[in-house]
Amino acid sequence: MELAARVAHMRGTGGNGWGILYRARAMIAAGEKVVMLTIGEPDVKTDPAILAAMAQSAANGHTGYTDIPGIPALRTEIAARVTARTGVETRAENVLVTPGGQAALYTAHQVLLDPQFAGLYISPFYPTYTGTIRASGAEARAVEARAEAGFQPAKADILAASAGARTLLINSPNNPTGVIYTPETIAGIAGACTEADLWLISDEVYETQVWEGPAISPRSLPGMVERTVVLGSLSKSHAMTGSRIGWMVAPEAVIDAAHELAVNTTYGVPGFIQDAALFALRRGAGFEAAVAAPFGRRRDIVRDVMAGSPVVGLTHPAGAMYAMLDIRRTGLSGEEFAARLLDEEKIAVMPGESFGAPAAGHLRIALTLEDGALEAALLRLRAFAEALAG
Ligand code: PMP
Repeated sequence: MELAARVAHMRGTGGNGWGILYRARAMIAAGEKVVMLTIGEPDVKTDPAILAAMAQSAANGHTGYTDIPGIPALRTEIAARVTARTGVETRAENVLVTPGGQAALYTAHQVLLDPQFAGLYISPFYPTYTGTIRASGAEARAVEARAEAGFQPAKADILAASAGARTLLINSPNNPTGVIYTPETIAGIAGACTEADLWLISDEVYETQVWEGPAISPRSLPGMVERTVVLGSLSKSHAMTGSRIGWMVAPEAVIDAAHELAVNTTYGVPGFIQDAALFALRRGAGFEAAVAAPFGRRRDIVRDVMAGSPVVGLTHPAGAMYAMLDIRRTGLSGEEFAARLLDEEKIAVMPGESFGAPAAGHLRIALTLEDGALEAALLRLRAFAEALAG
């Protein structure tokens, strides 16, 4: 019996750095102590008050089928949030509630791409990007953002890659690099999208983790509202990864098509999850700042520990819950360094290679470990790298 070619096409060619993660997990399962700096998941659980709202909603009977594009109150709340944060008038009709940011990413590419086109993405990239683009049948085409440019993508490089392309996917604040696109970068991206007639898909799931702003939503630039789709999520902003709740903000015609797709795929997001999300969003900016605060503290710790190292470089971490270390001066690749760090120091980090060629010779550190343990692990990493470099 044959399988469809579609999923094999989604797989494509990924980096193999995930081997480190699987090996670290196997070591832990075998009883070894391994410091995990691999996974981008908040190290706190969903707040009990949000869980109570969820349980209350379910107990009140919000357990049946719901409005497929999202309950009106939540769509309205998200629209108001986007309007307040960006100054762009946004209505409930511009919002589709999705089971997580990942489903919004998938939906956006399904709705905007056909197999004869290419979908652009900026590399280094969040590893689901290529498969998500390819799921539409289209080619996933990388635009490289170079380490020497602080991982800021250049307008000329986007334009040079744009023949036959219909979409461009960006992510700022960025996973894996921790950079925030500067106003000049965002203007260049908007200009490239206009000149090459591309849809812009802006992944803003780290919008509350901004240490050095501004973090500009490109939808707010002149002429961009009609060609931009913004993805959001409560996974990181409200520590709700397992609730699978996010959204897509787009022109109404895009939302209508996405609604049609949802009818035939998810059939909506559970009502009690949506009620919990509404409760969570209404807790306001103070709560979001409190959820984000540990990552901001820890990025200061990385900066302080690596300051003045003659061997380890640090890409300036302006946002998100990651730091990108440059270990090229050790002479090892990111994969070789990560493998030896795991074997010799029992510290697991992600090799940059798993996020695309421009991150070769780098390591991604997830700031998801308690401050003291993080500092101790980083000090050991720095000493290890300096010893390697002799
Ligand atoms: N985009 C980026 C850049 C991410 O890092 C993640 C999660 N790690 C997602 C999207 C998807 O998150 P979720 O589906 O949990 O909202």
